[in-house]
Amino acid sequence: MTPSDALIHKYNQQIPRYTSYPPANFFIPQSGETLRERLMLSNTSKPNNISIYIHIPFCSQQCWYCGCNSSVCSQTDIIDTYLQSVLQEIASIIPLLDSSRKISQIHFGGGTPSLLKIEHIETLLNLFSKTFSYTDSAEIAMECNPADLSFTYISDLIKLGITRISMGIQDFDHTILQAVHRKPPHIPIHELRKHIQSLGAQVNFDFMYGLPYQTLDSFKETILQAIANRPDRLVTFSYAHLPSMKKHQQKIDDLPMATGKEKIQMLYEAYHSFTQAGYTAIGLDHFALPEDSLAQAVDKGTLHRNFQGYCSAEQTGQVYAFGASAITQLADSFFQNTRNFNDYISAIQKNNSAVESGYIVTQEEQLVSSLIESILCNKIIDWEYIAHKNNRDLTSTKAFFSFAHNSVSDLISDNLLAETNKGYRVYEQGKFFLRNIAAAFDPNMYSGKTKKFSSSL
Ligand code: SF4
Repeated sequence: MTPSDALIHKYNQQIPRYTSYPPANFFIPQSGETLRERLMLSNTSKPNNISIYIHIPFCSQQCWYCGCNSSVCSQTDIIDTYLQSVLQEIASIIPLLDSSRKISQIHFGGGTPSLLKIEHIETLLNLFSKTFSYTDSAEIAMECNPADLSFTYISDLIKLGITRISMGIQDFDHTILQAVHRKPPHIPIHELRKHIQSLGAQVNFDFMYGLPYQTLDSFKETILQAIANRPDRLVTFSYAHLPSMKKHQQKIDDLPMATGKEKIQMLYEAYHSFTQAGYTAIGLDHFALPEDSLAQAVDKGTLHRNFQGYCSAEQTGQVYAFGASAITQLADSFFQNTRNFNDYISAIQKNNSAVESGYIVTQEEQLVSSLIESILCNKIIDWEYIAHKNNRDLTSTKAFFSFAHNSVSDLISDNLLAETNKGYRVYEQGKFFLRNIAAAFDPNMYSGKTKKFSSSL
């Protein structure tokens, strides 16, 4: 059963997505020098593995729903110059890292990384392979626009060592893709998926719900097609319509879009259908086949989350990020590069660093961060675990969160959260309000330090 209208109305609030704590809009100016100091310290931080993120900000055309940091550009000379800067940035950071550490994760995100030529990807990967070895379960993943993909390109990616290809399908219905100015694929998705899996790599399907013209029935159809394909992982992202912040979204301002209630029905439909089809729910909107490392991490209660999304304990690490807008995520700090790719190129050419902002996380914020991660990943709060993880005693840990008392009582009386002998667990219908539950334990939500966030539903 989907949650009641009253609950949807009550909890449809503007709150953080909690991809990090504190969220990125709390970042303040930081320097490349501070980054270098923290990078050297990160060699002894836990988890010890190296996780790499490379941001490719270019796209061949602008999708009207886009919320990413991307620019329309297919000019090879600009892409080449940008990549030279990324290579320069990587080359300046590698000597600061202990070469006995291993890479557990490399992620190409965007924008559209599938705009890159195979030679570009090879050069980038070689730079890391010259210095570091990889963990046994290391994953090299790339976000791709299915419209760019050919069989040859996929084969070449997999030959280079790419182990996971995420296809941003958004919807199988071409009328909806047309309305949001997104090219449909030339090769049917099921053929691309078969080809990737036949070469031994894994496939993610990414969808978006809440787009113009999507209805519950049309989305059900997309879900059925997704299940028939049986990809290794599925993700359903909620579309956040923020035309005042993302000007291109004004192009779809007048088109019919799902209400908060309809969006939650779509999410419920996806959750119900994917779990019925044998997928394990990862958090709320990610799904994985039982043999997938994320599903196994859920079973073991060792699921983690960083700016690259959910990951297992084996794959998590200190995240070193390269490219415009990329966010480096260390044990106790964040550093974000400048967002504009031209500014990024100039900054790297001048200083070898494009760091613009960041945040040094206090011990109390780390405590909040681990509690929120526990809610979003494992849907429980275990006070002893949280206290132990933060080297604190149980009494002071519980006392720190006393500000949440009234909100938690409210969540309990709304049957979203239940008290247990260890702490709390999220009720079945509470899974649809994970961000709201996390926000109840976020001191910033009570202190007036509010920022602009998207709606929770
Ligand atoms: S391809 Fe992705 S990143 Fe590029 S405009 Fe479309 S949604 Fe945004």
